[in-house]
Amino acid sequence: MNENITKRNELLADKVIKGLESRNMSGYYAADKQEALKKALELIPQGSTVTMGGAMSAHEIGLVEALKKGNYYFIDRDQEEDKRAAMLAAYDADVFLSSANAITNDGVMVNIDGNSNRVSAIAQGPKKVVFIVGMNKVCDDIDGAMKRARNVAAPINAQRFNLSTPCAKTGACFNCKSPDTICCQFLITRYSRHEGRIHVILVNDNLGF
Ligand code: SF4
Repeated sequence: MNENITKRNELLADKVIKGLESRNMSGYYAADKQEALKKALELIPQGSTVTMGGAMSAHEIGLVEALKKGNYYFIDRDQEEDKRAAMLAAYDADVFLSSANAITNDGVMVNIDGNSNRVSAIAQGPKKVVFIVGMNKVCDDIDGAMKRARNVAAPINAQRFNLSTPCAKTGACFNCKSPDTICCQFLITRYSRHEGRIHVILVNDNLGF
């Protein structure tokens, strides 16, 4: 990462972390993917049951591979025959991994979901939620975060899963009611009542979409 961008990201991350702390959530800054992986593994005790919901960023820092190789019980929904059982198991997991579609510079996270297993597990269930969030996801405010979720994250995800939505074809949100829409639920995470549950690792890199 360019050193001027890194300086800017350090300063911005400091602001986001203060915002998260004011909302009873923990934030950490990682200078690169390796540091992010180290921090994530510090937050996940060995022997934990771990699962995830569509967290490309966790793959990108090498976390999923490390968990599969290590002393963890990693539930990989894509590999399980009974996908519904695997999704339900997430609610009782020790750790749920996620990214965010966007985060405001004062620590509010925005996530959209079609299937809604990801946003529901973020909201309640797993004992701990660890977010891996590239600094490319930081927006000025909720309005900017919603715009990012619907005009950056959603079109790319819709294309990735070959969905028939207007955003997949045009790259922009048309506020559709397509049967394929991935905008069924919007979760705004602005405070955690549960001390020590939500942890956000901000990575000085472009991760996910
Ligand atoms: S509402 Fe429809 S068009 Fe807009 S981002 Fe969601 S899926 Fe795409």
